[in-house]
Amino acid sequence: MSELFTRISRKEFLKACAYTAALLGLEQSKVDHIAKVLAKAAAKPPVIWLEGQDCAGCTISFIGSTAPSVSEIILDVISLRYHETVMAGAGRVAEGALEETLKEEGYVMIVEGSIPTKDGRFCMVAGKPFGETVKKVAEKAGAIIAVGACAAYGGIPGAGPTGAKGVAEYLGRDDIINISTCPAHVEHVVGTVVYYLLYGKAPEIDKEGRPLMFFRTLIHDNCPRRGQFEKGNYLTDWNNLEERDWCLYLKGCKGPFTYSDCPIRKWNDGTNWCVECGAGCQGCAEPAFYAGMSPLFEKTQEIKGVDVDTIGKALGVVVGAGLAVHFIGQAATGRLGKGGPPEGGEKK
Ligand code: SF4
Repeated sequence: MSELFTRISRKEFLKACAYTAALLGLEQSKVDHIAKVLAKAAAKPPVIWLEGQDCAGCTISFIGSTAPSVSEIILDVISLRYHETVMAGAGRVAEGALEETLKEEGYVMIVEGSIPTKDGRFCMVAGKPFGETVKKVAEKAGAIIAVGACAAYGGIPGAGPTGAKGVAEYLGRDDIINISTCPAHVEHVVGTVVYYLLYGKAPEIDKEGRPLMFFRTLIHDNCPRRGQFEKGNYLTDWNNLEERDWCLYLKGCKGPFTYSDCPIRKWNDGTNWCVECGAGCQGCAEPAFYAGMSPLFEKTQEIKGVDVDTIGKALGVVVGAGLAVHFIGQAATGRLGKGGPPEGGEKK
């Protein structure tokens, strides 16, 4: 019996496998296959999870999932050897675990947080610059997954003084899987890891390195406020209750420029997400986040050919203008080809 089943019941395990199959868009007939792969202890790959310039938010997002506790199962299945926030060991014991894992073939490398490139004093881990460790661990990694906006593209630290970069840019590689958003969504991380376990390769990614199974559509296309956008109802006054559920575009919503399945998947076990709780999309799944998206609550991206400020006022013409905004928004993100709006990101 697998060690896994000493912690959870078989029923719970199969429930999680069924959930994972749905997450990956697989038929339920694949549940048995997923169960076999996940339960095969001998096949579980060692995982090294490094943290650089981060807030540990992606870790919290990952271990905070409760229904179902897929992350717990995955943590058992993947044999997490090194993770500064969750491991019990510290100091030389922890670094020894890292050195031992580096002797094995095919480990998975997960990076949370960005890598500073200016001045060696920034982000020292175990007495070494973080970037040195990233390079060393990347050498023999079977797969490299950058979790969160910081590891993917630099994120908030990328707007600061440390010259912070994402993993792909830092290593100069185009085979890094980017699970962007701030923080990374637990289901995006679990789905990517399980895909790798099932198929022995990375899932299909878009031109920004993001798995298409999670980052294929614009936030805007699945937004519950989309109807208000098309009616020309744009919130301009936070204190006006009549405008409470109106489109947040004029308040800086980056949904028309941002690819992620947040409106469908939501956060905190499907409880809510940014736009639904009135905050507007911040564009955290895109490479331009943070500097290119700030100030977050102001419209920062001018859309060529459309005077967006007048749209909310000119209600008589808003439907056409709104659609123009949408398609021009797609053009602005490089997704709109000559033949019209595509279904998703460009494939590599
Ligand atoms: Fe939703 Fe933002 Fe698009 Fe408005 S602009 S419909 S709030 S995603």
